[in-house]
Amino acid sequence: ERKKLSRLKKMPAVTRDGTEIALLANIELPDDCPAAMEAGASGVGLFRSEYLFMGRTGSLSKLPSEDEQFESYRKAVLAMKGRPVTIRTLDIGADKPLDVAEQTALNPALGLRAIRFCLAEPQMFLEQLRAILRASAYGPVKLLVPMLAHGFEIDQTLAMIEQAKTQLRDAHVKFDPLVPVGAMIEIPAAALTLPLFIKRMDFLSIGTNDLIQYTLAIDRADHEVAHLYNPLHPAVLYLLSTTISIGAKYGVPVSVCGEMAGDTKLTRLLLGMGLREFSMHPAQLLSVKQEILNSDLDAIVPQTKKILRTLEHLAIAEAVERLRAM
Ligand code: PEP
Ligand code: MG
Repeated sequence: ERKKLSRLKKMPAVTRDGTEIALLANIELPDDCPAAMEAGASGVGLFRSEYLFMGRTGSLSKLPSEDEQFESYRKAVLAMKGRPVTIRTLDIGADKPLDVAEQTALNPALGLRAIRFCLAEPQMFLEQLRAILRASAYGPVKLLVPMLAHGFEIDQTLAMIEQAKTQLRDAHVKFDPLVPVGAMIEIPAAALTLPLFIKRMDFLSIGTNDLIQYTLAIDRADHEVAHLYNPLHPAVLYLLSTTISIGAKYGVPVSVCGEMAGDTKLTRLLLGMGLREFSMHPAQLLSVKQEILNSDLDAIVPQTKKILRTLEHLAIAEAVERLRAM
């Protein structure tokens, strides 16, 4: 089976009807890039930069410096040999705690995490933004911002990116001034106010792991409620499909980088919703590609439309099962 899959490595991911699909890799550290290249990823769709920051004990000064971060980002960019690397800014807190910052929030998943933490620590955020921008002088980089929910957070973030660029220009440091900036859509409020994002962002990436958690009020790390964590809940499917179709309508690229993107049981459903860009763990990439090669959008789209009008969970599960068997 693995041998069969490895033959797909150099093949483009195209549906039977000829629609091209982009398959990208999620990475945690630059050392994951060879596996991404090996799997034939067309780029990195999600570099979870917080892994450079985790496991550091002591004080905030123990965190990676701008130069150390720059070296890591550049290493990833060079390893991907001209394929785009989407670097997500620090998504710390909740299930990914920073060892140097004591977690005191009563409800860390709803607390000062990700972009909220970054906007509260502007010097640290500027260091990271400069490090990411500097790496863009060595190959295509995209900048992705997690956990945005408010228009003013988008504006503050974009202003800080401009500030980082001005600092680099003043210091005569090279970077690509046209680095695309995108938002994670992973809070229901963001998916429900998409025009705020469409207007200001170059691309969107749906984080289904958190989108499911916040839509269903299920802690993604709590085993006691794991049976209720259902990617096929109609509310989740509604937020996913509207985000994908509104993005398409306005010409803003939308990808999915949560676990759903790497689940072959869901590949056809996502294709049917109009998804054209998937980012996943490199180990899942060839199986998803195989599913795409065997899929026919003409057959899938009408079935998906029916699923999106269905509310009963058993009917949804059965219809998704039938989609797989088509
Ligand atoms: C997500 O929330 O789906 C996602 C891709 O980000 P993370 O799992 O790192 O929160
Ligand atoms: Mg997330």
